[in-house]
Amino acid sequence: MSVSIRPHHLLCMVTYLGKGYTPAFVDNYSTIVQRLNDGEPIELVEGPDALCQPMLNEPGCHCRNESVRDRDRSAAAEIAQVLGCKVESGNLFVLDRQLLSLLREAFARGSIRKACEGCEWQTLCSKIARNEFRGCHLAPPD
Ligand code: SF4
Repeated sequence: MSVSIRPHHLLCMVTYLGKGYTPAFVDNYSTIVQRLNDGEPIELVEGPDALCQPMLNEPGCHCRNESVRDRDRSAAAEIAQVLGCKVESGNLFVLDRQLLSLLREAFARGSIRKACEGCEWQTLCSKIARNEFRGCHLAPPD
């Protein structure tokens, strides 16, 4: 099995502390993070992914909005620079500890944060990065 993830959620997951929009969203998010911690691969997708699922029928759901697709495009371009490979739909990979370290270093430097512009969680995510991601749930195998 693999977990479908849209590109900007690669950023959101590095700061995941167990907070989110609704209890159902948080439950689903925590289950997915645990699957990644167990070594399950990610499959990159365009549009709504496994993390979006509990939100798709919520009023005001933004998961299909073009502005959110813009976040994905920004994240994909910047993450590709950091990882030195294409970040595009259909790619399958395991987010191991080394890749996560690269992402967290780049996130803390601010070099992959264009997708975060205008996001309501920006202040919290910046604080988490300043705290060296202490308490974050994503902790995949080597
Ligand atoms: S600021 Fe928003 S888009 Fe950026 S990592 Fe946090 S939740 Fe994701």
